[in-house]
Amino acid sequence: MAASLVFRLHDRGPELVREVLLERGWEEYNEGEREEEDWNLYWRGSSFQTSQYHNLLPWQRLNHHPKTVGITRKDCLARNLRRMKATFGSALYDFSPTTFILPNDYTCFLAEYNRLRLARGTSVYWIVKPVDLSRGRGIFIFEDIKDLVYDCSVVIQRYISSSLLISGYKFDLRIYVCVKSFHPLTVYIHQEGLVRFATEKFNLSSLHNLYAHLTNTSINKFGPFYKTEKGRVGQGCKWTMSKFRHFLHSQQINELLLWQRINNIITLTLIAIATSVPSCPNCVELFGFDILIDAKFKPWLLEVNYSPALTLDCQADISVKKKLVSDVIDMMNYTSTDSLRDRAYWKHRYKQPCFKANHPSAPVLSTLNHQKKKRGNKGSHTQILPLLKTSHQPEKTKRGKLKQRDIEANYQRCLPPVELSKIREARCRIINTSAIKLHTNQTQNPILGQDSRTNESALNRQSRQPLVSYLMNNGSLYRSDVTNHDNTETEAERQCSGETDVSSLIPDTQESEEAFTRPAASWKLPNIYSTKTFRITAEKTTGNGQNIPPVKVGDFIRTFPFNRATLKASQHELDIRTVLQEIQSLTGQLVLGKGDKMKSRREEKVSADKDVDTDFDSLLWGPKDPPLISQCFKST
Ligand code: ADP
Repeated sequence: MAASLVFRLHDRGPELVREVLLERGWEEYNEGEREEEDWNLYWRGSSFQTSQYHNLLPWQRLNHHPKTVGITRKDCLARNLRRMKATFGSALYDFSPTTFILPNDYTCFLAEYNRLRLARGTSVYWIVKPVDLSRGRGIFIFEDIKDLVYDCSVVIQRYISSSLLISGYKFDLRIYVCVKSFHPLTVYIHQEGLVRFATEKFNLSSLHNLYAHLTNTSINKFGPFYKTEKGRVGQGCKWTMSKFRHFLHSQQINELLLWQRINNIITLTLIAIATSVPSCPNCVELFGFDILIDAKFKPWLLEVNYSPALTLDCQADISVKKKLVSDVIDMMNYTSTDSLRDRAYWKHRYKQPCFKANHPSAPVLSTLNHQKKKRGNKGSHTQILPLLKTSHQPEKTKRGKLKQRDIEANYQRCLPPVELSKIREARCRIINTSAIKLHTNQTQNPILGQDSRTNESALNRQSRQPLVSYLMNNGSLYRSDVTNHDNTETEAERQCSGETDVSSLIPDTQESEEAFTRPAASWKLPNIYSTKTFRITAEKTTGNGQNIPPVKVGDFIRTFPFNRATLKASQHELDIRTVLQEIQSLTGQLVLGKGDKMKSRREEKVSADKDVDTDFDSLLWGPKDPPLISQCFKST
């Protein structure tokens, strides 16, 4: 029988993830009992270190992609959206309130402040937020510049003072977004989500009242009116997205357009960093996008949360988050990856080796160095690799654990062969935004990239610049990636995990990428959608062999790629211009409700090809029963 899947939680949380995984029959990793590599999923609220990505084994998954700080930290997000606006125009990138990063942008802010003060008859308000805090901490709102006081790096943003209110209460939407992959960009949005209310009535004459102006649950659950009935809002401070949909219906709002605009915000924000995030197919990440809707039903992006809170404060949390976590796990499809771990650990005859062990350059270790890796002991990494040379099946303990002596006596391990010349060659290249693509059918382990220790360990380390200094010199990951967590993890905890907070060192996304590579086809993880027994819709393939990710995974709906053109545009180097054109075109069709008239000649040509239309289904994320995008136009 196959061994259970094993999960590893950093610092014992989040509890909901533990609960969901245990219910699904997983086992929790226990440092004392298991080998360092003997887990399938490592989930943590804060970021992983570069080495943890490099040392990933085929059956292992992480719940964060590397280097997403470009959208999850308030100042980085502002910088990247500003850059996208400057490059691609503000027609689409108009969803973020004007933002300045202080102290650097102080002069620009002052100029804008004065300009608006002179130009407008009405008052303009500003909101100040520390760049690296979350959960409403350190936030204040002001109208007069004399009230602007700050002692750390902050963003200062136009305060949306005309937000849509329900029974006089402000609210925002927490939208759960799962990025299955950045290369190619594959995005899913969960159908359920949360609406978070302020617990006191919105009132611009009391800017200091955070219960009226901030919608963070972490603040409002301590408000004096949390438990009071508040008109249509009811008790507490949260609705499910389903309840919000009922509200929209009652208001006779053009719901499709609102959802599509939110959808656009999410895609456009992810695009801002997509080319700079290194490829790591073993990662699937859940982001929390906070969207505020104004009185004209225009959605605004407030921030992107790195580790959205998974605590259960109320009934709405329970009905949304448990299914959400379960769907994220489904997104990772472990059936086939587990069999890899299984084979690596348990099977003595490994018929389809993951690594081409018969490659001449494959170093075979005759004995198993079985020292357990101690935390921080980076120099002593051992890799369990699935070349098993003996015919004797080692004895298992009651808990399914291999006895140490049996392992040592029976297993030999082999590192994946590498091609030294290719690695050196790649090292010399200056790579700009996208990850290196190794066009090779050789046997280097491409999941890990050329710089991975697994690959590296097969080399003569003396001949190379040490990895860590190399990464440091090349602007790689040794800096704080930790940003808008609204989970329960504290800054202190992050410090404990060895991460530093170096806000001034955080670049925008225009930096070189040598630390990670795209996977070569020769050594890919098994297609996570390929298992027959799995519950999600099978991946389809287009006529020219491109994989179409499933339309739905649980309650997650695929929102990118959303048509054949965006699929094509995201297959290799992300073609941002094409993606933007497609988004604009789709939104234009929804705005006018005249899809057919809006179609460009090129699209008409594409539509004329029946195969094209039928082999790519996309649902419009948002409505209760999401229609096919093509149906939206027919019905409007
Ligand atoms: P945090 O990471 O601390 O939660 P946010 O950017 O999400 O920071 O801001 C906290 C809350 O402040 C939001 O949930 C929202 O209610 C309010 N808020 C933030 N920015 C704006 C803005 N530009 N206009 C109106 N309200 C805002």
